[in-house]
Amino acid sequence: MSAASLRVGIDIGGTKTDAVAIDADGRVAYELRLATGFGAESVLATAVAAVEGLARAAGRTPETFASIGIGIPGAVDVASGRVEHAVNLGLSGLDLGSEVAARLGRSVRVENDVNAAALGAFSLLGRTSAQSMAYLNLGTGLAAGLVLGGRLWRGSRGVAGEIGHIPVDPSGPLCPCGQRGCLELMASGSAVARQWPTDEPKPVRALFAAADAGDALAIEVRERLVENVAAAVRLLVLTVDVDDVVIGGGLSSLGDVLLAEVRAVLTRWAASSEFLASLQLADRVTLVPSGTNAAAIGAALVGAADASESVTV
Ligand SMILES: [Zn+2]
Repeated sequence: MSAASLRVGIDIGGTKTDAVAIDADGRVAYELRLATGFGAESVLATAVAAVEGLARAAGRTPETFASIGIGIPGAVDVASGRVEHAVNLGLSGLDLGSEVAARLGRSVRVENDVNAAALGAFSLLGRTSAQSMAYLNLGTGLAAGLVLGGRLWRGSRGVAGEIGHIPVDPSGPLCPCGQRGCLELMASGSAVARQWPTDEPKPVRALFAAADAGDALAIEVRERLVENVAAAVRLLVLTVDVDDVVIGGGLSSLGDVLLAEVRAVLTRWAASSEFLASLQLADRVTLVPSGTNAAAIGAALVGAADASESVTV
């Protein structure tokens, strides 16, 4: 296979970094996973090591790849490749794009990780440029990426889809963002950790199991989680009327159990509202295909796009 047709995507997460090289048809040809270090130097070294590792696997050098894209949490200036506020990675501000480019001797593009995953999911699901999709990321936090008419919609200041910080309970707990009762505090991995602390390695799975076993608090926390995920789906459809809302992120690994619960809530709401019934919300929500790496694949698609244009897949 010609390395010139391989596009590299790197998804830098809080604990691990996933990297893929995809071929011209979007199929994953090579992939690897590394632990992500903490702080600017470690993050840079991890990104460079990921590209070099893929190059070794492909029997090539990094400069022969067609493109390199990086997805990372935080506020990303896609024009400059600078990332701010990636707190979980120990980054207050880093010129990630130019630093990695300098070390590899070639250009790279940087995108917010949820936006990258939205593009990846759009591609994995085989959507066309006539379609629109919201990608609802349920991880430590809650945020959405919007692909409208095949193009990533970042908004005027890159904040489009940050619905995790829409307050849903004015008397709720204080959010690190300074507001009270944000959606993210009700429907995310950190929301579960706060309301139902456990040492289990898979805390949300443990929550669902405890709720199934009749634990009253677990039932209450699970209900709050599921209702607020359903509320996020409703919010996204009412705001941008996307064809579908695709749930991804760590919590999506719950699979059909989560999807069935969310659909049940949406169906219940539809039964008491003709308006909501007409929106067919339960039919519009789905899960990112299991066993796929939407964020890294999306990062590869980001890297392939011309820097002067919106990303089209
Ligand atoms: Zn908030």
